[in-house]
Amino acid sequence: MSFLAKNYNRKKISFKYGKGAYLYSTNNKKYLDFVQGIAVNSLGHSHPKLVKTIKEQSKKLWHVSNAFQIPEGEKLAKKLCTKTFADFVMFQNSGAEATEAAIKVARRYFYSIGKPNKNRILCIKNSFHGRTLAAIFASGSKKMTEGFGPKVTGFDHFNFGDHNSLKKKINKNTAAIMVETIMGEGGIKVIPDWCLNELRILCNKKKILLILDEVQCGIGRSGDFFAFEKSKVKPDIVPIAKGIGGGFPIGAVLMNKKVASGMTPGTHGSTFGGNPLAMSIGNTVMDIVSNKKFLNNVKSLSKYFLFKLNKVQEKYPNVIKQIRGRGFLIGIQLCKDQTEFIKKLMDNHLLTIRAAENVVRILPPLNVKKNELDLALKIIEKVCSQIK
Ligand SMILES: *Cc1c(COP(=O)(O)O)cnc(C)c1O
Repeated sequence: MSFLAKNYNRKKISFKYGKGAYLYSTNNKKYLDFVQGIAVNSLGHSHPKLVKTIKEQSKKLWHVSNAFQIPEGEKLAKKLCTKTFADFVMFQNSGAEATEAAIKVARRYFYSIGKPNKNRILCIKNSFHGRTLAAIFASGSKKMTEGFGPKVTGFDHFNFGDHNSLKKKINKNTAAIMVETIMGEGGIKVIPDWCLNELRILCNKKKILLILDEVQCGIGRSGDFFAFEKSKVKPDIVPIAKGIGGGFPIGAVLMNKKVASGMTPGTHGSTFGGNPLAMSIGNTVMDIVSNKKFLNNVKSLSKYFLFKLNKVQEKYPNVIKQIRGRGFLIGIQLCKDQTEFIKKLMDNHLLTIRAAENVVRILPPLNVKKNELDLALKIIEKVCSQIK
């Protein structure tokens, strides 16, 4: 009898420990973990540098209030701003908090320049921005919002790729467009670079803000530190989370100087957000992941992996419809429901996770080794041959 609420459909397996790309189950089996806590363990399990950081920092200082200076947070914010478009950072604890804080920053900016009615956020229908009340209504997903009314208003929606609808939905009350640079839960759908560029131009023309949700696709996952960097587009606000803590809960909102001007003392806060323990871990992850050589390795290994996956697709076009994604944010879109495929992969000791549109999501640690990718390819090909 479990005393945990039944809000998850959990697989009947648990783990004793993890090392790098591998997880070891309580019934003594070894699994190649290509879920990695849903793109959270960017450096795999129990990375020695993260273990060292947490050991050392836990003996010094875990938590102090944001009423005081936190040097570890200053350090991480400086690194994030030096490496990216951002001028300022606000730390949170999770992705949903980060996306909601991003919405607050956008609204507060227009309020601060005397345009409080510019407060509506335009999002992609069936996107994913987290599970808190406002975030589920931002997604516009029927499944996620059902039974959670009254509706949190202030969000408008357009369908992925429907540029006419996008333009029509912008009105005088629109404050920002908020989209995932690469949709994760929604089925690994990449917004093409030219679209991102057009989005930026559109936002400039309409004098509204561009929020790019990089909670899943950011922090090296795409092969660039941020997925939007490839397009050269500069967003105004970027919520991040998942990968930045390497397994420790950290969220953050990155913003440019212009919009940050609205966030005066007292406008936002978080009890836990940015505490010394979290920040010291974030610093270690950041030092490793933002390194050019590290990112180049993600790029070249993921290109190899995607090339090989496409070969498997060509061999089994009746099983695999399409290979999607970039870097190590990969979706195998099947011709039919993915449940059986994921189960068979797991029977063969490869852990993956579903996404919308019949997609099997593949999220290796960013420091995955070539032989681990080859092992996964072998298992995927084997399962393809077993699917009718
Ligand atoms: C996971 C995710 C979130 C929510 O993060 P939580 O930490 O679960 O609150 C928000 N946006 C995107 C794009 C995500 O993938």
